[in-house]
Amino acid sequence: MKQDEKMIASKIKAEAQRLGFFACGIAKAAPVEENVAEAYRKWLENGEEASMAYMTNYLEKRLNPALLVPGVRSIVSLAMNYAPAQQLPEGEYQLAAYALGQDYHDLMKQRLRELAVNIGAPMELFQKGKKPQSADEKEETGWGVFCDTAPVLERYWAQKAGLGWVGRNHQLIIPHAGSMFFLGEVFLPFAVDVYDTPMQSRCGSCHRCIDACPTHAIIPDEDFHADRCLSYQLIENRGELSDEAKAAMGDTIYGCDRCQTACPWNRFATPNTEPALQPKPELLSMSKEAWHNLSVEDYRRLFKGSAVKRVKFDGLKRNIDATNN
Ligand code: SF4
Ligand code: SF4
Repeated sequence: MKQDEKMIASKIKAEAQRLGFFACGIAKAAPVEENVAEAYRKWLENGEEASMAYMTNYLEKRLNPALLVPGVRSIVSLAMNYAPAQQLPEGEYQLAAYALGQDYHDLMKQRLRELAVNIGAPMELFQKGKKPQSADEKEETGWGVFCDTAPVLERYWAQKAGLGWVGRNHQLIIPHAGSMFFLGEVFLPFAVDVYDTPMQSRCGSCHRCIDACPTHAIIPDEDFHADRCLSYQLIENRGELSDEAKAAMGDTIYGCDRCQTACPWNRFATPNTEPALQPKPELLSMSKEAWHNLSVEDYRRLFKGSAVKRVKFDGLKRNIDATNN
């Protein structure tokens, strides 16, 4: 394709659907809007990112996709459903829904690369065995594939690309589908024939997520208090859990879904059918007693290829030991 030619948006979306993505939208690549950039800078200045230093890193690239991928002209935003088809038994310890199956990073990256190649990216950019693109790796091709690990404001771009809006719970809400979606992006070096329209918030006067948050991490008209969030405390915090987290965690030993399950839009969620995202039978049969007796070997077997590896054995044990039962 020549640089001044336009890609056909509907073809990209049809291919995304064929690859199992639930939603796909396309936004023009441009620096992040000044009010959003300003709010993000202020959030960092206030230290609200807690110990998540990666949120501060590459700030300028995060706020301008062209600094991350020179030559990018369009950003395709994609969502993959992870609403669980099977839950851990009630009364037993719980993990956040996104962590029940295999690590989504691998699955998403593989699908995003497949999409990029199928719509015209040079195969060699995404060949198996090639190191995945990182924030440090300058590809001057204008192509890029990202999921979670790069400095990309994923929810901002998803909203720009018309997928949904960023709700009061700070999740991307897709109307009539909910928020249980993994987000990823394909950066394109071309314009497309039709860009999507950003979606306005439909939260209205609802505040259910705020009421459901057990640690007051979400406060209306204030920044998100990441250090109070159970998800941060149980996964990212490498030290002692806060007293507030210990008191609020209940049976949850990894992550927290309360502000998502409280959201009325998640009533429309449909269980995902992706084989890689289904929980292992062994995980489904874990009793509280088995969790308390978890050995390093059990942990490795249970969470091989899982996102739960992020918290490491000691972190998960810390969480289990902090429960009251
Ligand atoms: S994940 Fe849990 S603790 Fe964090 S904001 Fe949502 S409800 Fe609150
Ligand atoms: S619970 Fe209500 S306020 Fe919170 S994200 Fe959902 S719709 Fe918005």
